Amino acid sequence: MQKSISVSAPASVSNLGCGFDILGFALEKPQDKMTVRNNNLNKLRIKSQNTNYPVPEDPTKNVASVAIQAMLNKLNIQQGFDIEIDKQIKPGSGIGSSAASAAGAIFAVNELLQRPFKKKQLIQFAMVGETIASGCEHADNVAPCILGGITLIRSYKPIDIIPIDAPGKLFCVILHPKIEIKTSEAREILKKDVLLTDAVKQWGNVAGLITGLLKEDYELIGRSLDDYIIEPQRSKLIPAYDMLKATALNAGALGCNISGSGPSVFALTKGYDAANKVMDEMRKQYQNENIDFDIFVSSVNQTGVKISES
Ligand code: ADP
Repeated sequence: MQKSISVSAPASVSNLGCGFDILGFALEKPQDKMTVRNNNLNKLRIKSQNTNYPVPEDPTKNVASVAIQAMLNKLNIQQGFDIEIDKQIKPGSGIGSSAASAAGAIFAVNELLQRPFKKKQLIQFAMVGETIASGCEHADNVAPCILGGITLIRSYKPIDIIPIDAPGKLFCVILHPKIEIKTSEAREILKKDVLLTDAVKQWGNVAGLITGLLKEDYELIGRSLDDYIIEPQRSKLIPAYDMLKATALNAGALGCNISGSGPSVFALTKGYDAANKVMDEMRKQYQNENIDFDIFVSSVNQTGVKISES
């Protein structure tokens, strides 16, 4: 059996506009690096390498080891692994930091065990890992992180995941205010009931967004991104959100919304030049706030988690 493997796992945007819990896409950057090695101790051990972005080293508290354990349970085997995580995606930033670890770990172990599962089947184990971070099994970060591109979770029970080709000119600006919003906490504030009038507008947009993506109709994508249910409740957690969104739209973004449960905000554009223009305007706007932030442009990552040089 191969002893060791290194992988890279991309960040991702989940809750794509109107697609709360069902639509997400992988980003070209940033990417986590991980190395997984067999050990003879029948134990899962975690080493958190990046002191800037530490992750729990207790294997019951790290999404990577929890995901691996779910796979080992399914296979009914005992095998120890040492998992070194070089975290590049800040935990709690809203661009799928925990998902990248769960996806990377499960992909690496599947390779070391000589692929007992197909790539799509790995999602179910990565989702178990995600429960540690967010308090529920959601797949809209782990699915695109594993498969690349845009993914639709049509159903959770049973799990039914549909990859969607990303239009070639789709670019994304990410602005990350350096405050932490925990997914689990951002879930707790959500109301359990939805107004029928909002639901009708929302599923109209979901259908419009999918059609726009499939037809590469950027104008339709932009028209369909609005979220009537989650964004109004969560946007108050992000300082100056309304102003930032208005700035992105005025600068030509197709749409702008909360990435995951925030605090990161994403804006979609048609083309790289448009993305840079939107980024410049969003940067100028947010410099007026007294909050440290990162901002960058990324294309959609079509590959997902992959083997990398160690
Ligand atoms: P994000 O959207 O950035 O993944 P979450 O709030 O969903 O943010 O997840 C971050 C939480 O998950 C933190 O409490 C962190 O300690 C925990 N966590 C456990 N294992 C990991 C890991 N390997 N990578 C990132 N976060 C992890």
